[in-house]
Amino acid sequence: MRIERIETLVCHARMRNWVFVKVLTSEPGLVGWGEATLEWHTRSVLGAIDDLATLIVGEDPCRVEHVWQMMWRQHFWHGSGIVRATAISGIDIALWDIVGKVHGVPCHRLWGGPVRDRIRLYCHLGGGHMEDFYETPVEEANRFAELARQAVSEGFTAFKAMAVPPTLPLEGLAPVRAAERCVAAMRDAVGEAVDIMVDCHARPSPAMGMQFAKALEPYGLFFLEEPCWPEARDGLRAIRQAVRTPIATGERLTSLYQFRDLFAAGACDVCQLDLTHCGGFTGARRIAALAEAYRIALAPHNPQGPISTAATLEFGFAEPSFVICESVHRDVPWREDVVQVGYHVDPKSRTVTANTLPGIGVTVNEEEIRKHPFQQELLQRVFYRDGSVGDW
Ligand SMILES: [Mg+2]
Repeated sequence: MRIERIETLVCHARMRNWVFVKVLTSEPGLVGWGEATLEWHTRSVLGAIDDLATLIVGEDPCRVEHVWQMMWRQHFWHGSGIVRATAISGIDIALWDIVGKVHGVPCHRLWGGPVRDRIRLYCHLGGGHMEDFYETPVEEANRFAELARQAVSEGFTAFKAMAVPPTLPLEGLAPVRAAERCVAAMRDAVGEAVDIMVDCHARPSPAMGMQFAKALEPYGLFFLEEPCWPEARDGLRAIRQAVRTPIATGERLTSLYQFRDLFAAGACDVCQLDLTHCGGFTGARRIAALAEAYRIALAPHNPQGPISTAATLEFGFAEPSFVICESVHRDVPWREDVVQVGYHVDPKSRTVTANTLPGIGVTVNEEEIRKHPFQQELLQRVFYRDGSVGDW
């Protein structure tokens, strides 16, 4: 069997263009599906996948590690740049989907079988509705509380909020108190049995991240995400040592070597590797093994499309240290029309039981995808009060 062709299907989903990767084989009807979504870099990823195809068309799709090595090491440049890493990831997920189909088992059964009975999902405030999650101003603490109650009424036992505003490298008390009021309002609204996560989106400087972390510590967050840039490993470590709140990061890292440096620095408690950016299943499983050596929890980043979620869950059913899966259900109303999945979500508890179909268990409706062709993603930008540029 050989890889015949690699196709990409773009599905515009408001804030993101989902990039679905279809690997066709010489076996009639045998194809694998992956996802390589990279918001605001869609055209770059499509080109990178075309470039990678020149290396691997004609190869045996079941020699996944061998093909992965080609994609990572050949063409001179290693595969850690975000565009190439995302392209490699989408192809790798599709190759494992093929291997599962060849053997007639879900991917997690290829890696030793399920290590748990169910996986807990958490949602974004607003369920992934862009304006609710990313654009609710921190001045509106009551709105945060209202959205928190809504998440719980939809069955979620955990949710994440963007309750930390963008700040200059140094600011006074106002943004810190605003964040604190939002988190206090959410905790008040849902009580202590529900887990709350706050995503700082890697915006704060280490000094501001420290202030936010200290201010939010009394509210018992499940984790505090990206309290400063991932490049600022010393800042992450200092914050982690200063508060008892678990610190999460990793969604912007693309290689085993970056995760090695993160873990060795003692800079996080929770690893948010993203299967669509860190080398697919092949890369993610190596990173998970390394995380195991540090007893670091895995809570993958997963705000993209439905194939990313199916892949992340396959990974989770095979990884002992997997604690929770990020999920989005209200980004677009037709999410379930474009991809049917093999796993089952209990709407009362928002827990997932494993897919029983071969591979990653997805059925892709290409006709539905064609109803949502590429459009430029909506821009999201941050400028501070003084006009200077901030991180989105
Ligand atoms: Mg994040």
